[in-house]
Amino acid sequence: MSWWEIGEGSGYSSYNGDLRADLVECAFCGESGKFQFEGRLTRKNAAGKVLHYDTLKCEQCGNLTSVFWGQGDSGLQGIHQVPWPRKTTKWPRHWPDDVGRYWLQARRSLEASNWDAAALMARSAVQLTLRHQGAVGKNLYDEINDLGSKGLLPPVMLEWAHEVRVLGNDNAHPTPGSTATTAQDASAVVEYLGMLLKVVFDLPHQITEHRGKDRA
Ligand SMILES: [Zn+2]
Repeated sequence: MSWWEIGEGSGYSSYNGDLRADLVECAFCGESGKFQFEGRLTRKNAAGKVLHYDTLKCEQCGNLTSVFWGQGDSGLQGIHQVPWPRKTTKWPRHWPDDVGRYWLQARRSLEASNWDAAALMARSAVQLTLRHQGAVGKNLYDEINDLGSKGLLPPVMLEWAHEVRVLGNDNAHPTPGSTATTAQDASAVVEYLGMLLKVVFDLPHQITEHRGKDRA
């Protein structure tokens, strides 16, 4: 796909053909949509399609963001910004909110080097996700096996689930004098959680979307 096709078919709907600044988040202070235009450059091709190269100045902190964007015939805008926010602030809309909230806290704990908290939140998010899938059992060990036996977790995900269950176990059931979670272990649990969410929520969502398109 060429950059000249930016905005075609997918993107965010626009109201008036100007950049939707509300979709831009300042990577420095986190403020959205409050910018002044410092610079605006455009390029147009033979077909009349326009690419925009805007420089935005944040009204709150004064820092600059470059936004490359274009609009398709349908009025959809594709937007790319540099720099982009490095903090994780949201989760996909097709995830259950409670799972998203746990995942967000696990991610942000990783970003802040809080390894115990990251492992604990990620383990809880794994358990919550399994329960959303109808897992039953008296503990996480049983719940993992339950979904495996129902064919809802692929064998490779099942084995891996038990590995991260062991990693997060100390945080969920603390005993005096327990050792701190390492960065590596915390990352492993969060990594597994991300993969689980892909399999359980993202994949079915993408399939539904693509099948919907075929029928249209
Ligand atoms: Zn700012």
